[in-house]
Amino acid sequence: MSTPIVQFKNVTKKFGAHTILDGVDLTINEGEVVVVIGPSGSGKSTFLRCINALETIQGGDLIVGSHSVKSSPAELRALRREAGMVFQQFNLFPQLTALENVMFGPKQIRGVTHAKAKEEAEALLRKVGLGERMNHYPSELSGGQQQRVAIARALAIKPKLMLFDEPTSALDPELRHEVLKVMQDLAQDGMTMVVVTHEISFAEKVGTRLIFIDKGKIAHDGSPKELISLPPSQRLKDFLQHVK
Ligand code: ADP
Ligand code: MG
Repeated sequence: MSTPIVQFKNVTKKFGAHTILDGVDLTINEGEVVVVIGPSGSGKSTFLRCINALETIQGGDLIVGSHSVKSSPAELRALRREAGMVFQQFNLFPQLTALENVMFGPKQIRGVTHAKAKEEAEALLRKVGLGERMNHYPSELSGGQQQRVAIARALAIKPKLMLFDEPTSALDPELRHEVLKVMQDLAQDGMTMVVVTHEISFAEKVGTRLIFIDKGKIAHDGSPKELISLPPSQRLKDFLQHVK
């Protein structure tokens, strides 16, 4: 019934002698909105980067779609097309307009025609509320607008899942809601999402599952509402008090 999209199988990730992920087992199924929380330095970004094969793993296996992160370079390219990634610092190409940023991936990766890429990019930018800003450069856009362009750009490769690494942390509080709203709409459309965030209200409202990473392990994995209202450990309780 449920289709796995991401499968961590006893995954160990180290940087030198430092173990960041310590035997992580986890299956993420199609349609889930998994919110990942944890102390700074606990390995949340590394966890996401492993899913996109931006990091190599030292033990176990990690399957995304039907591809292992331990496969050949050609298959890794296929794996990376399964997931769209959105970073804290937007990472747009400054010399390209919003429209050109969104068209870039499809033109490079899928080899679609210019006309088709443009039509799809325009539709995506309208979807994230930037129909009137398509020909602006990143420097002419607010942080919230830039992050919405980054979301449209990630969607342009038609990913099976979306990975978000603290997408609102670099934004002024008043600009956060416009990005969170776009993410909520995506979730409502049925997109599978893994979201690292400190936005606890987003976890409660939009998340279908909450994961607390602590000391290289998944310390808690369950319903956002239950974990937030009744934290099962002092560690989680302290953490939630800290971010609220
Ligand atoms: P988080 O996103 O939860 O703050 P990170 O995944 O960024 O945590 O980092 C987890 C740990 O791994 C930290 O101790 C960090 O210093 C270390 N780390 C991250 N990237 C590297 C790297 N490229 N080389 C060495 N250590 C790294
Ligand atoms: Mg991080």
